[in-house]
Order: sequence, then C-alpha cells, then structure tokens
Amino acid sequence: MDETEIMASGDLDRIIKVDSKGDIKNLMKNINDIAEQLKDVTVEERRAQQTKTDLITNVSHDLRTPLTSIIGYLEIIDNDKYKDEVELRYYVNIAYEKAKGLNLLINDLFELTKMQNNTISLDKEDINLVQLLGQVVAYFEYQFKNADMKSRVNFSDDKLIVNADARKLVRAIENLLSNAIKYGQDGFYVDITTKIEENMAVVQVINYGQSISSIDLPHVFDRFYRVEKSRNSEIGGSGLGLAITKNIIELHQGIISVYSDNERTIFEFKLPVK
Ligand code: ATP
Ligand code: MG
Repeated sequence: MDETEIMASGDLDRIIKVDSKGDIKNLMKNINDIAEQLKDVTVEERRAQQTKTDLITNVSHDLRTPLTSIIGYLEIIDNDKYKDEVELRYYVNIAYEKAKGLNLLINDLFELTKMQNNTISLDKEDINLVQLLGQVVAYFEYQFKNADMKSRVNFSDDKLIVNADARKLVRAIENLLSNAIKYGQDGFYVDITTKIEENMAVVQVINYGQSISSIDLPHVFDRFYRVEKSRNSEIGGSGLGLAITKNIIELHQGIISVYSDNERTIFEFKLPVK
C-alpha cells in the first residue's frame, strides 16, 4: 500500500518488491508493469515534444533570415533611399528572389509534414522507372551545362516497372540530381545507374570529389541538416531535400542509403519492382 501511494504521487521509478504469493503477487506484477509502461509513454512524449521544439527553432531561423533581408530592401525602397531606377530594380529583384525562396521553403516544409503525418495520398500507377529517370535527367541537361558538368547514364537492360506516384518519384530524383550538381561540381561527372537486385529496382546517383565525412553521413537525411561546409558556403539550401526524398522512397516501401569516400558519393534507392 505504501509503495503504491508513492507511485501514485508520480514516482514511476518505484518497483514494488513484496515477498508474497497468489493474488497479491499478481497484483504486484501488474502494478509494476503499468508503472513501466507509463514511464515509456512519458519518455516517448518528451522526445516528441523535443522534436517539435527543435523543428520550431529551425523553422523560425530559416524563415527569419530571408524575411529580414526582404524587409530591409523594401524599407530602402519605401524610404526612397535608392540612387536610380537601376538600383531600385536591383533591390526589388533581391527581395523577389528571397520571397520565392521563402515560398519554396514553406512548401517543402508543408509537404514534409504531410508525409510524416501520413496524411498524404499517393497517386500510384505502373511506371517504367528507366524511362522516367531518362526523362528527368534529360530535363536536367540545362542545369548540368550551367554548372559545367556532365551527366552519364548507365541503365541496365532490365525493364524496371514500379507501382508509384510519378510526381513524387520525380521530386525524389530531382532532389538527388540537384544535390549532385550543387555539391559535386569539382567532380565534373554525375553518373546515374540502374540495375535489378532481388526484385528491387536499384538506382544510384553518383558524384565525385568532396566526400561527406563519416560524422555527417548518418544525419544527411535529417530535416534541416546541412554539412557545416555547405552551411558556410554560397550554395543555398534549407536541408529539407534529402528528408523529403527519404520520405517519398519510404512511402513506396523503398530504401534509401548513402555512401561516401574520398573519391565519390553515392545516393542509392531501391524500390520493389512489379
Ligand atoms: P535543399 O535540398 O532543401 O535545398 P540542401 O541541399 O542543403 O537543401 P539536402 O538536400 O537535404 O539539403 O542535403 C543535406 C546536406 O547533405 C547538404 O547541405 C550537403 O551538405 C550534403 N549533401 C547532400 N547531397 C550531397 C552530395 N551529393 N554530395 C555531397 N554532399 C551532399
Ligand atoms: Mg538538396
């Protein structure tokens, strides 16, 4: 009785130890089990709360930075503190670009939240993955050229049919390609390969040069995670791309992984083939 009173007052670390048999023993075991379960729930709730707090902190920071500069430039314009039309246009352009970036960030965040809450519905159809990849890569040619880079495709002869939401899948592939371009510029080539392995379609996007350190590697799929070097560089980004890609792949019962050494960085995803 004394022990249960202490438990009832909130001390769940308590374990009742009474030397007894029969019903009393069972009662003791059940109470201990209830306390244990309650403790697990509390820990889980605290963790969820922490994740939410982290998210809000990150979002506030990422929203505030571009917003501060938008307000700054609009203030200059509002106070007529520009020399001429050219300068005015310059400021308007920066504010516009920042506002577009903000819009993108909010859309990404919204999409990610929807995926993580499982409130997204997939529009699935049978897709020829090789063909889809070819189309996305072709449509990226302009970006490869702009970055002075070259894409190389190496598709196996297997016909990889997957049942998937084409638009979501395109989004996942786009994120991987745009990363390979953003972070693999020194390496010049980006290889895109496909093959089949144990009934799974395997797609790899490979870029060369600059590796991701083993400290950063386990975190690159976390939302808002950016490798220090990228954070400090001119290369823009919010660190949501890979989190979105991972969610998309997993919504399709797929697996995504990353490998990186001094020579190359490989992002690989696998999807069940029909
Ligand atoms: P966003 O995609 O939201 O615009 P981002 O590119 O910074 O921003 P992610 O795509 O999630 O975010 O990537 C997270 C981080 O992982 C990047 O900031 C970069 O440091 C690192 N990274 C991602 N892809 C590569 C790659 N192919 N090679 C080297 N580093 C990479
Ligand atoms: Mg990215």
